[in-house]
Amino acid sequence: MLAMKFGGTSVGSAARIRTVAQIVMSKKEPVVVCSAVSGITDMLLRIANASFAGSDPLVLFSELKQKHDNILAELALDPSLLEGIMNELESLIRRVTRMKTCTTETLDHFMSFGERLSCRIVAAHLCGIGANARAYDAFDIGMLTTNEFGKAEPLPESPSLIKEAISGMDHIPIITGFIGKTRSGKITTLSRGGSDYTASFIGAAIDAEEIQIWTDVDGVMTADPRIVNGAKTIGMLSFSEASELAVFGAKVLHPKSIQPAMEKNIPVRVLNTGNPSGTGTVILKEAEKSKSIAKAIACRKNVSIMNLTSTRMLNAYGYLAKIFDVFRKYHKSVDMVTTSEVSVSITLNEASQVEEIMSDLKGFAEVTIENDKAIICVVGQGMLECASLAGRILETVGSITSARMVSQGASNINISVVVENKHADDIVRALHQKVIV
Ligand code: ADP
Ligand code: ASP
Ligand code: MG
Repeated sequence: MLAMKFGGTSVGSAARIRTVAQIVMSKKEPVVVCSAVSGITDMLLRIANASFAGSDPLVLFSELKQKHDNILAELALDPSLLEGIMNELESLIRRVTRMKTCTTETLDHFMSFGERLSCRIVAAHLCGIGANARAYDAFDIGMLTTNEFGKAEPLPESPSLIKEAISGMDHIPIITGFIGKTRSGKITTLSRGGSDYTASFIGAAIDAEEIQIWTDVDGVMTADPRIVNGAKTIGMLSFSEASELAVFGAKVLHPKSIQPAMEKNIPVRVLNTGNPSGTGTVILKEAEKSKSIAKAIACRKNVSIMNLTSTRMLNAYGYLAKIFDVFRKYHKSVDMVTTSEVSVSITLNEASQVEEIMSDLKGFAEVTIENDKAIICVVGQGMLECASLAGRILETVGSITSARMVSQGASNINISVVVENKHADDIVRALHQKVIV
């Protein structure tokens, strides 16, 4: 079996959906995961906000409906295909407008509609051109999750439920990315961009021979092509290299999308729906090193640094453990840490619960926070063996600004620096010119 995921732009118009159908029909035993039509998840969030604020959400709703109706009409599909789901969305809007509350649980319900709509269109079009396909909401074939709305995690029983549901099918399943349900039946989302994670998770559950991520660029590139004009497609990456890039901001892959594939050693291939004959980027357990060692640069903006200072740190053991215990308590993962004898700096990805964390930490250190930072991460296997690389990276950064934090980990595959947001794009461009061949 082959797990194939098509992103928002890939299902963003009738023409694109026709291409998707051709690609799917050319494969043996495809299992398909789709994102929402591009722009729809954002629109659903705007509808949720407008419902909550009582500011005419039905205008936005009819825009959303029109967009889908146009695709249905262009594909000559039954105009009533999406009626049931549109009615469900409309009654949710009315309920939120009436109640004037919108919890994270309600937001996930809103955001779930995009994938539920797009999958029905793709499946109906495939049937219309002679394939045997059927749309599924992921939660109906075993995607059960925790109740962490907005960033839910699949539950341990999900893989076997999914495998059981899919293995007996005599048709092509077109499955919603991004969404799941709790054991008690509440709809959840896996975090923005999460359809990649769904595809990888399902691919691993069914022991797919490959997991394909079909998107709008030719593969994973040496940098974000929106920032670097000359960014090039990378032929091959290792799971570790791809994970680092995804975690540090390369939007083409969701940060969690590599883990399930890595656990089952299933190749992941990133391909362009607009160029189906391309070979894309293949991601494997081991990948060739690049001549320049550095293969790609990722950048994550809007990061904060938390600085902790205390003389009690001097020669003390257990001090870092105490600090990280606070982060554990708030379920906060930490990406980058630098230490000196009396201070520790930690990067934080999201602003939530910062106040609570700071107040806990104030018991044993002075705490300050710096916002509007960006982590820039240069990735490539073999960094420790290339003595001159760290120097060249720092010199390049230093020609633009001073780095706030620097980290070269033991993993041998990444060197990261933290800088001000406003310098990030220039630094990415300069590094691309200096360290990527
Ligand atoms: P999809 O809707 O298919 O999931 P996304 O917009 O989530 O697509 O991801 C694809 C986009 O990721 C590309 O259009 C590109 O702008 C951006 N991107 C950022 N970094 C990279 C990178 N290193 N390689 C390729 N694309 C990248
Ligand atoms: N539609 C969701 C989003 O926009 C999930 C995805 O596209 O992967 O975040
Ligand atoms: Mg994406």
